[in-house]
Amino acid sequence: MIESNCVQMNGSEKLQTRCVIVGGGPAGMMAGYLLARAGVAVAVLEKHSDFNRDFRGDTIHPSTLELMHEIGLLDEFLKQPHQEVRELRAVVNGQATPVADFRKLPTRCKFIAFMPQWDFLNFLSNHAKCFPTFQLHMETEVVDLLTEDSRVIGVRAKTPQGELEVRADLVVGADGRHSTIQTRAGLDQLEFGVPIDVLWMRISKKHDDPAQSLGFFQQGKLLVLLDRGDYWQAGFVIPKGQFDEIKERGLAQFQNDIVSFAGFLRDRVAELDDWSKIKLLTVQVNRRKVQARREWPTRLIQGMQIFIHRRIVTGRTSDEKKTSLPFVLRLLKWFPILRQLPARFIGLGPRPEHIRSPTAA
Ligand SMILES: Cc1cc2nc3c(=O)[nH]c(=O)nc-3n(C[C@H](O)[C@H](O)[C@H](O)COP(=O)(O)OP(=O)(O)OC[C@H]3O[C@@H](n4cnc5c(N)ncnc54)[C@H](O)[C@@H]3O)c2cc1C
Repeated sequence: MIESNCVQMNGSEKLQTRCVIVGGGPAGMMAGYLLARAGVAVAVLEKHSDFNRDFRGDTIHPSTLELMHEIGLLDEFLKQPHQEVRELRAVVNGQATPVADFRKLPTRCKFIAFMPQWDFLNFLSNHAKCFPTFQLHMETEVVDLLTEDSRVIGVRAKTPQGELEVRADLVVGADGRHSTIQTRAGLDQLEFGVPIDVLWMRISKKHDDPAQSLGFFQQGKLLVLLDRGDYWQAGFVIPKGQFDEIKERGLAQFQNDIVSFAGFLRDRVAELDDWSKIKLLTVQVNRRKVQARREWPTRLIQGMQIFIHRRIVTGRTSDEKKTSLPFVLRLLKWFPILRQLPARFIGLGPRPEHIRSPTAA
């Protein structure tokens, strides 16, 4: 049964449905897909006109690929252009070293798939649209909650055609960082001090460059290069609040910094000829009150993120350690079996979830 309808009243459109999801990122789109698949009328509202945004990730982890299998989409999903990384390698103080080996994971896919997040979202939304109970409204920005007797009964959104009012039994906020839903609902958020920011930029790629995405660690600093076909998406980790200082030192110095990590970029760093090409991403780690089930896995992952931010990527290493591999990485190099531990943490995470929701008959 389709339980949503749409009417036009006084220039503003009104929609009634069972569930409205604010935000068409991975969380909102997957929730929308699963509800529609179970026969629940659901409307996903996304403020942008497409999914093509740069501040998005590229890695689809084995745990997510397992979920794609559980909903029957894995084979088709893997027909999308992607790279399969079975072993994670990093360049640490100039030495290439293995960090995680995914080949022994107890999952169908023993690799991380590298695919731009917009391809993942386009794939999922195209499949969700096959369900008659699914609606996706692009260019629909939620600006407020609708309440009645202190109860949330829907949302108010603006669209290029005017205002849209959506009433629903359930409102889900999946609108990412700076969430409107969270603010309007007055939900508290725990903030953790994070000592890093990331500079995010594109650098062109050549055929004789390294074959896959890479992380370069050096003197406690980090440059990540994500392979996006004809260009590298580069993330350069800097101590929090130091972007202005870096700008003052000038573009030439910044280009040199990049080359000192990845020498093969020497003939191209000049592409970064204007600060507008280098975007500052302010890194935050925070969480809302989540259900007991997801709380400890979230704590563990965030604790590990903060540990890495503080110990590894903020430039705090002594001089004698500048050229040697850290002890933990030496252990991983000597004993391949140990690489299965980081692989489990990165690839599956603590308490991986499974899909047990029903499929509508
Ligand atoms: C630079 C960067 C690199 C990353 N790399 C990786 C990676 O490689 N692998 C990985 O797994 N994760 C990565 N991540 C993390 C990953 O992107 C996030 O965990 C994930 O996107 C969170 O999904 P989400 O659906 O909760 O939120 P988001 O992806 O932020 O989605 C929220 C959506 O809500 C929409 N929205 C916001 N406000 C409104 C509104 N008022 N009305 C309607 N719509 C609204 C937004 O447009 C957006 O589409 C990376 C993150 C960043 C910033």
